[in-house]
Amino acid sequence: MTERKTSAAKEAAEVKEAATKGAAATRQAAAATNEALARPTGNAGTLRLLAIVLWVLGLACEVVGILILLQKLVVSNPVVFIVIALLLDLVLVVAGSFLWKRANKIDPPSEKNPVEFFIKTQLGAIIAVIAFFPILLLLLLDKNLDKRAKTLISILAVVCLAGAVGLSADYDPISLEDLQQMRENAESSDFGANYVKWSTNSKVYHTWATCSALNRISENNLREGTVDEAFEASKARMCKICAGHFNITKGVDGGDVADDAQEALDEAAGDLADDAEDAAGALPAAA
Ligand SMILES: [Zn+2]
Repeated sequence: MTERKTSAAKEAAEVKEAATKGAAATRQAAAATNEALARPTGNAGTLRLLAIVLWVLGLACEVVGILILLQKLVVSNPVVFIVIALLLDLVLVVAGSFLWKRANKIDPPSEKNPVEFFIKTQLGAIIAVIAFFPILLLLLLDKNLDKRAKTLISILAVVCLAGAVGLSADYDPISLEDLQQMRENAESSDFGANYVKWSTNSKVYHTWATCSALNRISENNLREGTVDEAFEASKARMCKICAGHFNITKGVDGGDVADDAQEALDEAAGDLADDAEDAAGALPAAA
């Protein structure tokens, strides 16, 4: 009896110890997360390095394709090898560009020098041109391949060039100055200094708790976090209504009424989908 009691007490002590350890681990993880959030520029360098490695590998594929085309590199089936080189080139270049764009969202370039800003934000698109234009030009000038193969590979190269440039370009480049303005604008936020809310559907963030646009956002689309997190999610401009409330004029959404209308439509569509989901969820419970 006493022995059983002792073993039960021992078990309880073990459980308690495990729980304490678990809580300590959770606290440690939370502290690590907070630290990571406090310095979001931490991994931009690694992302850029990886992007450059992928781009170099992509360009190497292009070089191999060109060597085969010029018959400097002899393979059993040149057409197949050139097609494979082009496709690998496409995947590597686009993957590199995605990493590069992600790094720019964490550690944005300054727009003080417009040329430098353009190069830093659109480097993926520039690499994409370098990765496909030379081989396309050589394909068009080629006299060795048979006509049908030449036409097919040339079309593939044009598609790869257009696809790579289209996917690599940054259509909404955001600058360091945008981020600094955003931090300044969010100091007076109702949700705590530098803490904001946004919708996954729009390009603006909110700082006023009673903003009508904010309160239109459906629960599924509503996100909140630090200014830097909003920035990473491409929300770099302050909502016009919130800006009006706080008398802020810089870094405010330049969008017109059409944008607001679109946002309202998106939110309405989101709400309808939510309702449908809720209804679907309620059915089995009712049955
Ligand atoms: Zn707002």
